[in-house]
Amino acid sequence: MEARTALVTGGSRGIGRGIALELARAGCRVGINYAGNEAAARDTLAAVKEAGGDGLIVQADVSVAADRNRMLDTVFSEFGRLDLLVNNAGVAPNVRADLLTCGEESFDRLFAINLKGPFFLTQQAALRMREQAQDGHGLRGRVVNITSISVYTSSVNRGDYCMVKAGLAMMTKLFADRLADDGILVYEIRPGVIATDMTAGVKEKYDHLILEKGITPLRRWGRPEDIGLAVRAVAEDRFPFSTGEVFNVDGGFHLHRL
Ligand code: NAP
Repeated sequence: MEARTALVTGGSRGIGRGIALELARAGCRVGINYAGNEAAARDTLAAVKEAGGDGLIVQADVSVAADRNRMLDTVFSEFGRLDLLVNNAGVAPNVRADLLTCGEESFDRLFAINLKGPFFLTQQAALRMREQAQDGHGLRGRVVNITSISVYTSSVNRGDYCMVKAGLAMMTKLFADRLADDGILVYEIRPGVIATDMTAGVKEKYDHLILEKGITPLRRWGRPEDIGLAVRAVAEDRFPFSTGEVFNVDGGFHLHRL
């Protein structure tokens, strides 16, 4: 295990919890960020400890600058350093609305939480990582951005979500390029359809598409631990000569089939 300390935004539930647990299984100390659901964050921390790891919970709204800085202050003062930042926190539109009728409020909310927050959190984390000593692999840090198949898949009833996820994919390339000389590697993990609170409301629709129509070659829902295992591989430095890389964790959804 190379990355000893990690911060997972939105680590209280769903995919973030799956990531926190896999990092814990590798013996990592994990900062579990949450927005409002403290009870869920405490449950994740208990599970992290049970899995052999350790950590802390930290409330912060990633769309708010003061919250982001306070969160980094907490993590650096408790852990001493940050080896891995996982930009996982994200929201879907409250109401799905067609491109021709959707409003600005949802656009602004998704932009702030899903793109502006991760961008400036990464900026501030990277400035601090640059100042810390190299680890055994000559690295000063790692960043993972959790995007979505929506980066390249058109859903005309949630265009705002697709656009901000596409922005997050570009953000991965930009930081990978900018931070390479600083010994900070940056990756994108692109999940398919994963069973979490976010997809609970569309369960029937995706049950049909996945299990009956075979929209993914692997006919099952993704699980949070599927994403957790991919993040763990990054934390364990399985890709030392890759940066800006995209890992599809989607049951093969991205394949074009005839
Ligand atoms: P989820 O079950 O709805 O959990 C969302 C997590 O994000 C919670 O921990 C929540 O904290 C946190 N969060 C929400 N707004 C926040 C904010 N402003 N500041 C800090 N934390 C905030 O979602 P999920 O399905 O696990 O999704 C996690 C990520 O994966 C998202 O970026 C999502 O877009 C992406 N993704 C999901 C799927 C899928 O099929 N589920 C597919 C592709 C990509 P609280 O618990 O405090 O509310």
